[in-house]
Amino acid sequence: MRKKIVAANWKMNLTLAQGEQLVNDIIAAGIKLSEGQEVVIAPPFPYLIKVKQLIRNYPGIYLAAQNCYSEKSGAYTGEVSAEMLQSIGVDFVIIGHSERREYFSETNAQLAKKIDLALANGIKPIFCCGEPLEVRKAETQNAYVAQQLQESLYHLDAAALKNVVIAYEPIWAIGTGLTASAQQAQDMHAFIRSQIAEKFGREAALGITILYGGSAKPSNAKELFSSPDVDGGLIGGASLVAADFTAIVQSF
Ligand code: 13P
Repeated sequence: MRKKIVAANWKMNLTLAQGEQLVNDIIAAGIKLSEGQEVVIAPPFPYLIKVKQLIRNYPGIYLAAQNCYSEKSGAYTGEVSAEMLQSIGVDFVIIGHSERREYFSETNAQLAKKIDLALANGIKPIFCCGEPLEVRKAETQNAYVAQQLQESLYHLDAAALKNVVIAYEPIWAIGTGLTASAQQAQDMHAFIRSQIAEKFGREAALGITILYGGSAKPSNAKELFSSPDVDGGLIGGASLVAADFTAIVQSF
């Protein structure tokens, strides 16, 4: 049985005090996690250690960073390495979010290096893929996403892939209020799983967790998560409101 995950990507939002309050409110809501279900919280870098402390007594709640750098260490002012994240107990790292690809020109090849460094440090990458609106309009989204997978993940072997989570985030649905329909999400997730099966084998494909991201909210989470190949969500805006995030977590 593959893991089901609901992950909160706070992006560049909240002060430390607001972040602490949010985590405490999520904990206080007493969310019930079923077998194989995990909650992941991805705060900005300066809050990682604090959030780690807040969640330490709550099995099933894990910590993610929103990024790491593609080099091991050295003269890269302002960057944060996978080894640093490992040294403070980070469990997951979001790699290749479309905002990183767009605003920081991250390429599939650079993301492949980040994936390797995360895995080498025992951190599970949440690898983001997804097409822009013009690609969706041209109905070439499958080829677009296939290339992202090929160029950033296909150098791995099946054993390494076991520690990777994939997040499908159609760019046209991120922060726009425009959600992919449950059918659109299911179709792409099934396609991604078929690609993984072709390259890494059936067992790897059945075991990999594939999350949906893009304007997921309490009112649509249940329907999205009910699709057979959608194993949870990567939540932006709605993860900043404790009641909304906990409602999404309880949508399985
Ligand atoms: P929204 O949920 O705000 O659309 O953001 C999705 C996302 O980018 C999560 O990483």
